[in-house]
Amino acid sequence: MPGFLYNEKIYIGVGVGVGVGKACKYTYTYIKNEKRSGLMSDKILVIGGGFSGLTAACEAAEMGYEVAIVEREDYLGGRVAQLNKYFPKLCPPTCGLEINFKRIRTNPRITFYTRSEVESVSGGPGAYNVKIKVNPKYTTPQCMNCKPGEAAATTEVPNEFNFGMDTRKGIYLPHPMAFPNQCVMDPAVAQSDEGKAIEAAMPAGHIDLGQQPETIDLNVGAIIIATGWDPYDATKMDNLGFGKYENIITNMMMERMASPSGPTGGKILRPSDKEAPKSIGFVQCAGSRDENHLPYCSFICCMATLKQITYIREQYPDTDVYVFYIDIRAAGRKYENFYAKVKADEKVKFIKGKVAEVREGSSPGSVILVAEDTIGGGKVEQEVDLAVLATGMQPTGAKVKIPGIQYDEDGFVVQQEGIIPCGCAKRPADVVSSAQSATAAALKAVQTIVRRAG
Ligand code: SF4
Repeated sequence: MPGFLYNEKIYIGVGVGVGVGKACKYTYTYIKNEKRSGLMSDKILVIGGGFSGLTAACEAAEMGYEVAIVEREDYLGGRVAQLNKYFPKLCPPTCGLEINFKRIRTNPRITFYTRSEVESVSGGPGAYNVKIKVNPKYTTPQCMNCKPGEAAATTEVPNEFNFGMDTRKGIYLPHPMAFPNQCVMDPAVAQSDEGKAIEAAMPAGHIDLGQQPETIDLNVGAIIIATGWDPYDATKMDNLGFGKYENIITNMMMERMASPSGPTGGKILRPSDKEAPKSIGFVQCAGSRDENHLPYCSFICCMATLKQITYIREQYPDTDVYVFYIDIRAAGRKYENFYAKVKADEKVKFIKGKVAEVREGSSPGSVILVAEDTIGGGKVEQEVDLAVLATGMQPTGAKVKIPGIQYDEDGFVVQQEGIIPCGCAKRPADVVSSAQSATAAALKAVQTIVRRAG
């Protein structure tokens, strides 16, 4: 059936009409996909509001398209917001994220929903119907400082932003640079007497305990999936002792510890006694390149370790560092140079060998890393004050799947026309390559809309 798109409606009819001042003949667009019962749309949905999602949204909006971002967390910025510093410039997250937040604040074509999730996706390229559930925060946008509410709150839970290294109350600001800058309340707290006590302690108009989940129907022409990644669950690797020994942390915990807004105010300390570690061991490929866990290379963890060695050196000139690795993946001239600089440090030792076992050390709180040295030969047993597991990245799709989206066996999104993954939803990637793939995804989304409309 011939038809055409005008004002988000499909028109069907014969190809004769009146042009500017004269009769003319024109061709309507033929809509081939019979599954597309919804309305054609030139709006783009971005699922995930981390660095990739923000980049894709800004790029598409700056090309003139309406964009909606859906983010499950209470804030935009994703994993980058949790880092102390990131490549290529080793700047704190504020620098790159703040630029994107400004682009969002000043672009009326972008709308975003936080604490929200996609419930279903139907339709096809050019005309998707998406149901979004917007969950209540029990606060209003006026609520930017909830200190009086925190004082009235009794519930204290592990702070997920800091990987449980400290606690937070039932009402809280997700992190100091949260965007949007709005405090939020846990649902269980909001529905209890504690919620009422918090409401009484806060200024009028800041708390709204009556908020209900809301479902929004969006009609979009293309969907960019930027759902990002989760650190691989270190407790799954029984041999590496995470959760058994207090002084074993993950690389993301190290990021929070080194961050000035983190649980130790930026000091790298042993969790057991809050002392400065005199020796630190890094366990590379912790869960990655392993058929029993993540079969692929996680791409970022070699550079993350090299970066974290510079954090250690800034604080402790004499701390001994040991890196147990299979290969060091530092691709490209900049990363190679960075690796060479770290290697030149006499107090950093690289041991080519995969850690097979971690056991209790002889001095209080220390652990012993056991590996086969494939260059020097023989078994190495290195005792350290603190061990850092360079855990890999697992796409969020491995745990949470969006109905209507296709995933591969590892949880990465499979690209189809109109459904475009980017960043770590597509493959393991660092911030630079995530931003590049997000820009490409924005272009692909626009192409889908233009092709289907044309
Ligand atoms: Fe292993 Fe390095 Fe690849 Fe991470 S980036 S999985 S540590 S080789």
